[in-house]
Amino acid sequence: MSSSTTAAASVPSKNATAIAAAAMASKINAARAYAQAQNVIAAKHFAAAMAGFIGLFAIFHWSRFLYSRYASKTIKDSKIMKGQVSIARLTRHVLNHPAPYFKSIGHALVVIVYLLINVVVTVTGNIDWTSQIGIAKRCGWLAFSNIAFITFLALKNTPLAYLTGFSYESLNPLHQAAGYTTVTYVFLHLILESAYMSKFNELFVLTEQEQVYGIVAGCGMFIILVSAICLRSIRYEIFYLIHIAMYAVIIVTAALHRSDITKQALYAILVAGAMWGSDRILRACRVLWYSYDNRAIITPLPHGGTRIKLSRAPSRAIPGNHCFLWIPQIRLIETHPFTIVNCSPSSLELVISAYDGFTNDLHNYALKNPGVTLRASVDETEEFDTQAYH
Ligand SMILES: Cc1cc2nc3c(=O)[nH]c(=O)nc-3n(C[C@H](O)[C@H](O)[C@H](O)COP(=O)(O)OP(=O)(O)OC[C@H]3O[C@@H](n4cnc5c(N)ncnc54)[C@H](O)[C@@H]3O)c2cc1C
Repeated sequence: MSSSTTAAASVPSKNATAIAAAAMASKINAARAYAQAQNVIAAKHFAAAMAGFIGLFAIFHWSRFLYSRYASKTIKDSKIMKGQVSIARLTRHVLNHPAPYFKSIGHALVVIVYLLINVVVTVTGNIDWTSQIGIAKRCGWLAFSNIAFITFLALKNTPLAYLTGFSYESLNPLHQAAGYTTVTYVFLHLILESAYMSKFNELFVLTEQEQVYGIVAGCGMFIILVSAICLRSIRYEIFYLIHIAMYAVIIVTAALHRSDITKQALYAILVAGAMWGSDRILRACRVLWYSYDNRAIITPLPHGGTRIKLSRAPSRAIPGNHCFLWIPQIRLIETHPFTIVNCSPSSLELVISAYDGFTNDLHNYALKNPGVTLRASVDETEEFDTQAYH
């Protein structure tokens, strides 16, 4: 057979290969677009489930508040209402009981429901279970969704205080559980994606800039995990600094990892960053505002105590709630939470036990300079006034 005949025969065969490759590429693209649409739905389901969960607490909190505030004596004395109030009290009593590894049975239940929502959203909807990539992508989406949720829980100026009566402080166990869950999703995403790439000899993809940003975000998560386990209880201030710095790194690199806004994953990170940024700005503005013409008289008390009396109080300060105290002469870049003992528009009183860094230095300073006046400020947190129930 002449060479020209061979060349003529190979042209249709080349065309067939090209057509098959194009068909495969379009199939892969269609599968990707379908998986993307399913993951958007999963993220929406996650947001709706969390909103519903919060809604349940809001209904319970507001019905309790409205009942104790506005229900007439006749309604309160009726048999039906008395029965319901007894059931509600019994439920609260049971939920407040301590549980292993948790502050209370109520806290444990909240974390269990949160984890269940995550499991359900992870495995439902159409996922391609025939390869690792389907579940890997779903884990990535849920990591992003959880970052927004964790941020929402950590806000000091939180609408949850009014909606549910819980301050950021009482939400901390859920914040921690959500943190561990997010780290798990990030690791699963990384491991399953790598396994998939390795199967097709495509591990080089991990060196692409977009993927490197993702890996940096994963490292940030890992550092937060290690510092939470090893440092939180022994060096809180260092843990806190690492937490803030790594959070900022994660937000920036996660946004760069999924920077295409049309794919929608970026929305979760933008929402998280915007919530966190505005909370920080608001807190800084308040500390600045309450630092104006504010002075703290510092008096040492027996047994390592220090009394602080500020000359200006936040407008919504209530004894029993807490505020963040800033005394730059003791610690320039730290604020610490303390319970308000007493307050009026022109004074706010705190009693502080010497514990470690800031509180120890404050007490020693008070011992050396009893009755001294220092520049100070406070930041109030959003807390529901529990007196409103009575
Ligand atoms: C809501 C709330 C109200 C409080 N009220 C009082 C009070 O009225 N009187 C009092 O003596 N103490 C109070 N504390 C505890 C007080 O905040 C800590 O003892 C203080 O911050 C310790 O700081 P440090 O530098 O001495 O020690 P660190 O080593 O910095 O911290 C020791 C421990 O204090 C806690 N802590 C420190 N900083 C913070 C922070 N920014 N947010 C949350 N927890 C932190 C952590 O559990 C940490 O492990 C309160 C804490 C909270 C969360």
